[in-house]
Amino acid sequence: MQGLMMSAPLLISSLIEHAGRHNGATEIVSRRVEGDLHRTSWGEVQRRSKRLANALIAMGVVPGDRIATIAWNGYRHLELYYAVSGIGAVLHTINPRLHPDQIAWIVNHAEDARLFFDATFVPIVAAIGARCPTVASWVLMTDADRMPTDAQGPELACYEDLIDASSDRLAWPVFDENTASSLCYTSGTTGNPKGVLYSHRSSVLHAFGAAMPDAMGISAGDSVLPVVPMFHVNAWGLPYTAALAGCKLVLPGPALDGKSLYDLFENEKVTFSAGVPTVWLGLINYMKQHGFAFSTFKRTIIGGSACPPAMIRTLNDDFGVEVVHAWGMSEMSPLGTTCKLANRHLTLPRDQQLRILEKQGHVIYGVDMRIVDPDGHDLPWDGEAVGDLLVRGPWVMREYFKAEGGDPLVVDEDGVSWFPTGDVGHIDADGYLQITDRSKDVIKSGGEWIGSIDLENIAMAHPSVLMAAVIAVPHPKWDERPLLIVVRKPDRDVSRADLLAYYDGKIAKWWTPDDVVFVDSIPLGATGKMLKTRLRDTYRDHRLPTA
Ligand code: AMP
Repeated sequence: MQGLMMSAPLLISSLIEHAGRHNGATEIVSRRVEGDLHRTSWGEVQRRSKRLANALIAMGVVPGDRIATIAWNGYRHLELYYAVSGIGAVLHTINPRLHPDQIAWIVNHAEDARLFFDATFVPIVAAIGARCPTVASWVLMTDADRMPTDAQGPELACYEDLIDASSDRLAWPVFDENTASSLCYTSGTTGNPKGVLYSHRSSVLHAFGAAMPDAMGISAGDSVLPVVPMFHVNAWGLPYTAALAGCKLVLPGPALDGKSLYDLFENEKVTFSAGVPTVWLGLINYMKQHGFAFSTFKRTIIGGSACPPAMIRTLNDDFGVEVVHAWGMSEMSPLGTTCKLANRHLTLPRDQQLRILEKQGHVIYGVDMRIVDPDGHDLPWDGEAVGDLLVRGPWVMREYFKAEGGDPLVVDEDGVSWFPTGDVGHIDADGYLQITDRSKDVIKSGGEWIGSIDLENIAMAHPSVLMAAVIAVPHPKWDERPLLIVVRKPDRDVSRADLLAYYDGKIAKWWTPDDVVFVDSIPLGATGKMLKTRLRDTYRDHRLPTA
């Protein structure tokens, strides 16, 4: 027997229709490339995304076409999110921090039909234009009077001209909710990048899941500033979740330094934010230098790589900001787990609560997870047994774009398919996941595993350490041993012996790194994560004192 409820496909256009109609006056504030602040509203974004959708249709864009963006977090990028997916085309957000050769490769692999870009990225377009034959038009996201007259490279169209020439009368088309909505290439450290193709259904369900109180917990009362870029897994879904919740959205554009962010947090009364751990370093340093405090900022999601416990404590104790540690990946839209206390934790002493909050957390409804041994057998959830992490759910990928890399799923003995994340960790009896490493980064010492994240977290708690990475280097007896690579805080000194002694009593003795290297900076990848592959290459021949 069928239920007798209305059937409405879960389409991304329903999010902007909801936000425009029911929270139309709520503000969207953007820092533009030109440096000024621009103010609009959900109602205006709804109208302009319809004009843009009409412009795309007039340009000849058809459902399934890939429309690329190379852009910062801003209102025009937000309009593209809704206009492109809304008409059944696929929004392909490209990370501008990649090398132009990689960008050209991605554009050609995706066979992008149009490419929209911010003025900052004119040089990228000049570098790749002639190499990307599928791109029929290049649209500069700016006003007519700011169009360059001397730009090298392909013919440019102007974003605001497209909007001006189009009507805002449009009924969003209704189609199958499993239609592709957006495309994001993973920053794969080996081999070519692979595309993750999200659907309308997966994006809307993820927006629901992300909004829940134990996930991001966003409501109409929030002012949300995504530091995470709109080219990194759809800014962790925030452009969708913010529309669903009807909250104020503050988009920081290219200005991600401590001062610019702090000014925006204060002036726009930001209550909630999201970003990878490295972005908070600059903001925290700037605020400490000037003795500043936050007046409205209360909560942030930190994920994308392990958030050092020292950062959780600093934000909490010194700045009154609750950190929600989250884990996920591009292939998961990206949210998998978030770390909030359960009712039974509320009476624990604060220190024990903080130890729970340092973990990557509990799955949110929609995602299921397992940890397995190398033969695929389930490991106990005892907070100790470390295994490979598998996940499944309606916003978890089943296959890469164009079937690149074959079928990635593994099937369990009940015939159920799981996505192998490539992460390793343990799960405790309460269902809280702790990631101990990326499987490629695990240090294999004498047949045992050493998790690099634990070693990095301890070093990061040292008062003189700004950043720390731990990598495996070859060892004649133990196969691999840990090497600690450290960036010291400005004006702080610490010796190799001090740092190694700092591990005493905090971990098993044999986990202690064999050596320390001091560097001026640690290379970061295109999404702000430490580039351990580069570090391993650099220190491949490093001679450990124990070797
Ligand atoms: P990406 O697809 O670029 O977002 O990268 C996903 C990967 O980042 C995951 O598979 C993890 O290895 C890592 N990652 C994300 N969040 C965390 C976290 N909270 N702790 C540790 N690693 C994380």
